[in-house]
Amino acid sequence: MKDKLKIIERQNSVLNKLNEIAAISDISPKETLRKALSIGKDYFGLEFGIVSHIVDETYTVDVQASPPETLFDGQEFVFGSTYCKTTLELDDVLAITDVTKSKYVGHPCHRDYELVSYIGAPVKVNSKVYGTINFSSPSARQLEYDKIDDEFMKLLARWAGSFLERQFAHDELSLTKKRFEMIFENNASGILLVDENCKINMVNKQFCDIIGFSKDELIGQSSRIFHTDDTSDKIRKENFSKTKDSSYMKLEYKLKTKDNKNIWCEFFGSPIKITEDTTNIIWNILDITAKKNLQEQLETQATTDYLTELHNRRYFTSRLEEEVARIKRDKKVTSSLLMFDLDKFKLINDTLGHLMGDVVLKIFADILKKNLRKSDIAGRIGGEEFAMILPSTNIREAKVLANRIREEVSNKKTIIDGNSINFTVSIGLTAIASDDANSDSAFARADTALYMAKGKGRNRVEVE
Ligand code: GH3
Ligand code: MG
Ligand code: MG
Repeated sequence: MKDKLKIIERQNSVLNKLNEIAAISDISPKETLRKALSIGKDYFGLEFGIVSHIVDETYTVDVQASPPETLFDGQEFVFGSTYCKTTLELDDVLAITDVTKSKYVGHPCHRDYELVSYIGAPVKVNSKVYGTINFSSPSARQLEYDKIDDEFMKLLARWAGSFLERQFAHDELSLTKKRFEMIFENNASGILLVDENCKINMVNKQFCDIIGFSKDELIGQSSRIFHTDDTSDKIRKENFSKTKDSSYMKLEYKLKTKDNKNIWCEFFGSPIKITEDTTNIIWNILDITAKKNLQEQLETQATTDYLTELHNRRYFTSRLEEEVARIKRDKKVTSSLLMFDLDKFKLINDTLGHLMGDVVLKIFADILKKNLRKSDIAGRIGGEEFAMILPSTNIREAKVLANRIREEVSNKKTIIDGNSINFTVSIGLTAIASDDANSDSAFARADTALYMAKGKGRNRVEVE
């Protein structure tokens, strides 16, 4: 009884040691197993300790604890010639105190490797046989193995199995994490993870390259750091909640880089539930500044007159259509339309040449631009014909402006190549009416007024 207690105490101390070494994180899993094998080896008083991995007919020494130059990790044996084959066939502990005095006399492991004493048990990982944990010696063991040794061996095998299980799960997790990090970091688009307070939780390298800030400068900060002043906290929060409530969101935004440059970015966002009650938004971000600039350039080209840089006829007409529609909606508003035609322009071309004619057109356009208020719209609608919309301006006010322009033109003296150029302009003025069906009728009235101005001797303003 006293002996039994002693044995149990010994076993407990071994198990405690095993648990202790499993908790040490600064040694590799292999070394932990080796330590466990040493502890087991000492316990049984045998020379060799092995954790084996068995695949088909190959027995591989995963880890061993043995005298120098006897066994090595990774060493392979033919499975059929090991005591472990018998252990797995039994699916239980195999304990041989002295093979020469047992039913296993002549076992290939005795014959080929001269191992006389052995104790081993199957190791299962995730309920599948992985291999064995076993201890052996070329000499017979003094003490007969008993039931307590069997139980202890089973405990060791279970310990090894669960240790490997945890290790494999950990390895798989590390691999998954590594893969995720690789995909995240090397993604061709910028990636940004923000919480409901627009705090930055994660960014990848590509986003840092786009925005010019380092990871350390971004993580934990508000996304305000790279938004322009146009994007208020309120807008950012609204974007968050809109994206949270939809599965997918696409936005275009101007951002501010670290060196204060504005760039255009395309955002693709979707919500990610981080925990039961925390949602983050993951944004994929592309720098579309070059595309945007080109688009803006093309839009400007499509709406601008190349010579004077005023609006072209097509764009001017579309703005006049809008103004007609506005007047129709709000009958209390009066707006005016002015039409300009340079006087005797043919003569200027004929005497000074077409190029000088172009210069005159530019001089006239500059006078128009100078007299333009913020809401006014001016365009070149023909060769030497121009027009101006004066929103919310009545005829009386418009006439004052028209005469100011007319006078400025006639008083302007330009010397080009020693030639003094002096020219005048005739102006037709009309009010945009709520019964104008479209821009054509307003244009036609202004044209009639202009015709009148020409008829009455030019350099005049007439109203129709
Ligand atoms: P009026 O006082 O009656 O308007 O006389 P005008 O000579 O200006 O009459 P008209 O409208 O017949 O002539 C306009 C001229 O403008 C004809 C054309 O050669 C010239 N013109 C049209 N577009 C351009 C241009 O882009 N550049 C230059 N230099 N001349 C142009
Ligand atoms: Mg003309
Ligand atoms: Mg003319």
